Amino acid sequence: MRPITTRFAPSPTGALHLGHAFAALTAWRAAKEASGRFLVRIEDIDSTRCRPEFEAAIFEDLTWLGLDWPIPVRRQSEHLDAYARALDSLRGRDLIYPCFCTRAEIKAEIARAGAAPHLATEGADPVYPGTCRRLSEPERAARIARGDPFALRLNLTAALEETGPLIWHDATRGTVVAEARRFGDVVLARKEMPTSYHLAVTLDDHLQGVTLVTRGEDLFEATHIQRVLQALLGLDVPNYAHHRLITDEDGRRFAKRDRAVTLAALRERGVTPAEVMAAFKAGAVARLPG
Ligand code: GLU
Repeated sequence: MRPITTRFAPSPTGALHLGHAFAALTAWRAAKEASGRFLVRIEDIDSTRCRPEFEAAIFEDLTWLGLDWPIPVRRQSEHLDAYARALDSLRGRDLIYPCFCTRAEIKAEIARAGAAPHLATEGADPVYPGTCRRLSEPERAARIARGDPFALRLNLTAALEETGPLIWHDATRGTVVAEARRFGDVVLARKEMPTSYHLAVTLDDHLQGVTLVTRGEDLFEATHIQRVLQALLGLDVPNYAHHRLITDEDGRRFAKRDRAVTLAALRERGVTPAEVMAAFKAGAVARLPG
């Protein structure tokens, strides 16, 4: 059996807050309890929002919390060739297609069809109605030659025909049947971002030998899509443990803009890592010394 390998995979788009600390500690503990490995991965594919100073602060915060991890860490922006190769493999099997639609066009198309926009999950973008899937090859070639910007979408119907039914294992929910169909043809790459979150995470977890993905419940739904990508690309399937989200006293999730609960701010106020951990255990984050 492979040793347990977990990871914490933040995006350096802001300061880490208590929610991140809980996620990182959960992954770290799961690895330590099993004498396994804990990895840190920097998810910096969105070059417009990621900044090196946030990355440096992430390492500082995690060290302050008492965590350790092997270096060098994997930085997604340094592996764009790996994501491109995965896209090539999907393209070779006609599983992705270029989509030229803007958000406004997608909305208009849904309205024209007289249907209410179908959302795969609450707050998500409407499910893509498949407009560009129906373009002919010459139409696609002409638009690309003209320089029209496009995204690459997964042809989910064709993908599911190839994979057949899929399941995964979640620590709290047990065996979960993958239900990717309701997400429609998700975007796997854009012009300004040559891979999507789903593709990069799935491939990296495989390449880094991650056996247990611990992450917040807010990413539970993402696993449906990621499971399909694993099957299409012949990747190992980790186990999953989606954990509760840390909230403030009003039950709201912390956001990167909440200055007061960043780990840096807590540190400045003299809060210790032991106090942070005790607050998580007692479910009393709001009572941390302020
Ligand atoms: N980078 C993602 C985030 O910051 C987490 C990725 C994952 O755990 O799958 O939310």
